[in-house]
Amino acid sequence: MFRARCLYGEPCFCYFVRVKVVTKSAEETKDAARAWLNPKFAGSGSGKATVVALIGNLGAGKTTFTQAVAEALGVKENITSPTFVIEKIYKLKGQKWQNLIHLDCYRLDKPEELLHLGWAEIASEPENLILVEWADKFPELFTHAEKIYFNHGEGDHREINFT
Ligand code: ADP
Ligand code: MG
Repeated sequence: MFRARCLYGEPCFCYFVRVKVVTKSAEETKDAARAWLNPKFAGSGSGKATVVALIGNLGAGKTTFTQAVAEALGVKENITSPTFVIEKIYKLKGQKWQNLIHLDCYRLDKPEELLHLGWAEIASEPENLILVEWADKFPELFTHAEKIYFNHGEGDHREINFT
């Protein structure tokens, strides 16, 4: 694939509609997360929350990706999968968004459960960046979300497909 040199780093997310990245360590997945995040600081947004669906099996790197996004946005807390609490909200300071919201649908059975957590409201607020693990359980709630697909390869290999 042709790759441009990019101010934000490689891989370049400025011009390509689809980018496939193979990473060989958690740190490389974090590099991909940072490269994905950087161009998002530009632009005025859609008037709604920025919703990102992280799709892939257990251990494929969804939380690792989210950790790098959180670190890049100045979050000091340790980020773990919100599997049991379902939702974690991190207040951001001096960033494009005021909140990073990390959701995990793994333990939810029905989309109504997410709606009861106030999904419609948090998804409508432009100050929210929302990363959702296991969003593919309820595709009807994420038709307009950006989707990132994670595949677990051999050993430490992971394939990440950005759409
Ligand atoms: P998920 O949230 O998709 O279940 P996690 O990010 O929690 O996955 O876990 C991924 C695990 O795999 C972590 O322990 C991480 O250190 C390890 N790992 C090894 N190689 C990679 C890689 N290339 N990308 C992401 N994580 C990796
Ligand atoms: Mg996880």
